[in-house]
Amino acid sequence: MSTDSFTPVVVAEGDGIGPEITRATLRVLEAAGASIDWHRVVIGKQAYESGVATGVPDDVWALLREHRVLLKGPITTPQGGGYKSVNVTLRKSLGLFANVRETKSYGPYVPTRHAEMNLVIVRENEEDLYAGIEHRQTREVTQSLKLISRPGTERIVRFAFEYARAHGRQRVTCMTKDNIMKLTDGLFHKTFDAIAPEYPEIAAEHMIIDIGAARLADRPDTFDVIVTLNLYGDVLSDVASQIAGSVGLGGSANIGDGVAMFEAVHGSAPDIAGQGIANPSGMLLAAVQMLVHVGQAEAAERIANAWLRTLEDGCHTGDLYRSGTSIERVGTDGFADAVIARLGDDPRHLAPVHYRKHDLRVELRDAPPERKEMRGIDVFVDWSEGDRDAAVLGTALAEAARGVGWDLSMITNRGVKVYPDGFPETFRTDHWRCRFRPQDGAVTHFEAALELLTSVHGAGFDVIKTEGLYDFDGEPGYSLGQGE
Ligand code: NAD
Repeated sequence: MSTDSFTPVVVAEGDGIGPEITRATLRVLEAAGASIDWHRVVIGKQAYESGVATGVPDDVWALLREHRVLLKGPITTPQGGGYKSVNVTLRKSLGLFANVRETKSYGPYVPTRHAEMNLVIVRENEEDLYAGIEHRQTREVTQSLKLISRPGTERIVRFAFEYARAHGRQRVTCMTKDNIMKLTDGLFHKTFDAIAPEYPEIAAEHMIIDIGAARLADRPDTFDVIVTLNLYGDVLSDVASQIAGSVGLGGSANIGDGVAMFEAVHGSAPDIAGQGIANPSGMLLAAVQMLVHVGQAEAAERIANAWLRTLEDGCHTGDLYRSGTSIERVGTDGFADAVIARLGDDPRHLAPVHYRKHDLRVELRDAPPERKEMRGIDVFVDWSEGDRDAAVLGTALAEAARGVGWDLSMITNRGVKVYPDGFPETFRTDHWRCRFRPQDGAVTHFEAALELLTSVHGAGFDVIKTEGLYDFDGEPGYSLGQGE
């Protein structure tokens, strides 16, 4: 048969239960009439063991760049050492900026307290604390940089609204912690507020992440699409899967600019690998998302509806089998056979699935250039002398700064102001953030900051890092210290 009308897709079985569930998934896709030209590759554990340091051989990168869609089985990642996660490598290298996890409940066929749950979490996938830029700066203090960019935020927020529009969803909820992180999470929230009016048919709301997470755990049925930052999204999507009663049933999509990777939510389940009892549903539902992505919504729909019917008919793998609701216990292949036998059937009780063909376009708008002016500098020092008395440090630093045209305006310790006028009760580590402003209050510059650093260093202080204090179009681009 000619493969001209077939969509090329790269497929990696992974390890553990990966090969079994991938085989079962591909059989169902073929029986459903999906037109895919599969390109099989080996990544992860086996690749590492054959000496490929990244876990992804060069020829696989070339195939991925050419065909731009990957269906991936779970891959074992050792904890606390060993090789790096191939999942993270793939996400970052291919620019897969959106992680999309649809979570539904299938009660009473899968026990859950939330029968009406049907939500999607759109998680930013590249930024935030997952940039992994960490430093130990003093004997007592470590830091991780939380990076949030305007284009990265704009892209994920637009994607969430485009996704909602394409899938006929009614509401997008943004979750951040911008009452505390006013600049980083604040940028995310502001971007959301700026973009939402472009989608007047979709309701938009914002929740602080803590109350949002609590509501999600209690009333998941009240959510539709949630868009959030990387770390919050990571936690929320596991909470959502767990309360749906179906951690093993979820599929997830990692979407980039013209590139996408689809996989089950669960891992490689080494405890049951090779026994033929794993549930292939997570991988199958990931493949269904993939079919919609490549424009084969019809085949996707046939599979999803046959799968729902299989669940309803009580044909369950061991992880879902419950006496009372289940009728037949099947293995991985038996489950695939049961889905294949029902292709063309709709579920009788659960709502049938209808996918629309869609083409998500996420185009960024140009932001106007802003005037950037340096108004001061934060100098971080490692200091633990003089009983860690902030007044001692403050007096010495103010003295070092005065001669080179700078004022010391405050010192904080873990973000709390300790100088001037600190409280003796405030706990003090060896990590001090010292804020300097030019004496004339004017706009300053790099050379002046260098002079200040030389003077502070010359006075015997261990400078560990600096941050410029910049105004953008007159708006401060830095946070105030607590109590400043
Ligand atoms: P896991 O999801 O592999 O297993 C957790 C439990 O769920 C186990 O008891 C397992 O038997 C069961 N389970 C998982 N999938 C199942 C299925 N399809 N059918 C029936 N039961 C299933 O989580 P883990 O044990 O924490 O991780 C194992 C390995 O997988 C680790 O190396 C981890 O790093 C890796 N992992 C990979 C991915 C991925 O490739 N995307 C995701 C998560 C974990």
